[in-house]
Amino acid sequence: MTAPIRIALQKSGRLSEDSYQLFKACGIRFDYGTGKLKSVSSNFPAEFLFLRDDDIPGYVEDGVADLGIVGENVAVETGRNVSTVHRLGFSKCRLSIAIPRGDAYNGLSDLEGKNIATSYPNLLGTYLAGQGIKAEIHEISGSVEIAPSIGLAEAVCDIVSSGSTLLSNGLKEVETIFRSEAIMIAYPGLVAEKQTLLDQLLFRINAVQAAKNNKYIVLNAPNDAIPAIAALLPGMKAPTVTPLATEGWSSVHSVINENAFWENIEAIRAAGAEGILVVPIEKMIN
Ligand code: ATP
Ligand code: MG
Repeated sequence: MTAPIRIALQKSGRLSEDSYQLFKACGIRFDYGTGKLKSVSSNFPAEFLFLRDDDIPGYVEDGVADLGIVGENVAVETGRNVSTVHRLGFSKCRLSIAIPRGDAYNGLSDLEGKNIATSYPNLLGTYLAGQGIKAEIHEISGSVEIAPSIGLAEAVCDIVSSGSTLLSNGLKEVETIFRSEAIMIAYPGLVAEKQTLLDQLLFRINAVQAAKNNKYIVLNAPNDAIPAIAALLPGMKAPTVTPLATEGWSSVHSVINENAFWENIEAIRAAGAEGILVVPIEKMIN
């Protein structure tokens, strides 16, 4: 029997729910949220470890876990030797420098010689060095955004998504230094059978991600409008066209990228389409 592939996930935090939902969408069942540190899938050779996100790159580097899901910010900050095998598109955020709202800002040189508080000293240090700025980096592990108001630092470098935390702490964002999303990382020395399991998993993840970005579209149109409509439907292949019971009309079925849909829908209607249905796709295999 194949040894299960071991996957480290964040126990509870901003990555957890989307990570669990991803495996669920891939048809891989396991228990989580029970307070246990480990769970074995009932229908795929996988074992899940629930950890703090900061610890995941180290476990994967050491091969204690074969795979892990972490924010790219954490993967880069920890500097561990792991392979990035897939970008997952959730937990998107940015790492930014912020200063008190009332302070003037004319550019990075304003940060020269300043104290900057952050939980990301490596990412910040690399960025500042690349820009030729010398500043004092104060590493603190949490509540970075209060550092200026208690006199610990003149600026902060922290994770931002909507910016509301910065705003409520009287700060303004002045530089974005890194953009992050959840990524899947792997132990670089996976044995062949684990690599096979990873490939099976990535096949499923790709099918789930492709489905999410595409919609199934069904519409009715007069036959003479079909060439114009087909040109606006960049589907998997050519659209399927079947005759309707009404003489001279057909039903057109296709798959359309969500973004292309909003760009093209007006034109599709103007070309003569009626009764347009847009349906979510559960899985999509190319
Ligand atoms: P842990 O207890 O596991 O150490 P944590 O408090 O360090 O958790 P979270 O706040 O749960 O971490 O964030 C985990 C990851 O989610 C971050 O490293 C980042 O990649 C991403 N993230 C953080 N804040 C946001 C946000 N506001 N929106 C979207 N993604 C975010
Ligand atoms: Mg953490």
